Amino acid sequence: MAERRLPKPKVAGSRPVFRSILLPTARIFLLYLPNTGGAFVLLTAISRITEHHKTFATSGNASERRLDVPHTFWITPSGVGWSDIGLADLVMLSVQTGEVVSGTLRPSTEWRAHQAIYSTHPWVGGIVHLHSLYATILSVIGIPVLPVHYQMARVGDQVPVVPYQTFGTTALARRVAETIASDTRAVLIENHGLFAVGDSADDALRAADEVEWTAEVQYRAMLVKSPRVLTRDELSEARDAFRTYGQNPTSIS
Ligand SMILES: [Zn+2]
Repeated sequence: MAERRLPKPKVAGSRPVFRSILLPTARIFLLYLPNTGGAFVLLTAISRITEHHKTFATSGNASERRLDVPHTFWITPSGVGWSDIGLADLVMLSVQTGEVVSGTLRPSTEWRAHQAIYSTHPWVGGIVHLHSLYATILSVIGIPVLPVHYQMARVGDQVPVVPYQTFGTTALARRVAETIASDTRAVLIENHGLFAVGDSADDALRAADEVEWTAEVQYRAMLVKSPRVLTRDELSEARDAFRTYGQNPTSIS
């Protein structure tokens, strides 16, 4: 009888080099490239959204603060599918006034929330807004995303739910901006979806990923019984452990 062998694991080829050297270098270069600063970082995040998230094609939006042009940010256009957004479609807005600085398309209808967050929280470098499935389910039943797993320790003690407001309004923008904090990096809007922030759009998407995954775990666990929630001390210890996690330990707050 012929011996059965497990297939050899696939080796990712040049991927480690790409991720560890080429990608960071390209990001730094593109971040400061005149007239495109931050736009490529935003497009990279957008491509990941289309890969991973169960969300309608044109729902949600993302933005990246420009470092090369003070007090401005790039934001995705209104009504254009994630997979169709290109560099020329991004719209640049003023952080102070919300006016369009450059771009030919209309900005996302949630531009007021993005502007409010950037103007209130100078440390925020990127924002993602999604109608991802499980975060939206919890928003519909008005339950915050709880720390049922240490995976979301980086985002905060929990992801609170702010009361429903019509999308695109100043009232919604104010609610979201005043709830976001350095230790509350995501918020659910009742009957709507999720806002997540970070140092960049890519970092904000990572926070959104962590929230969405935890929301799914919490939702599925709740179908069986009331899940145990981590204590503040347990979360604090998890944050300490994350500081030395992975190949590029970074500080988190
Ligand atoms: Zn929305």
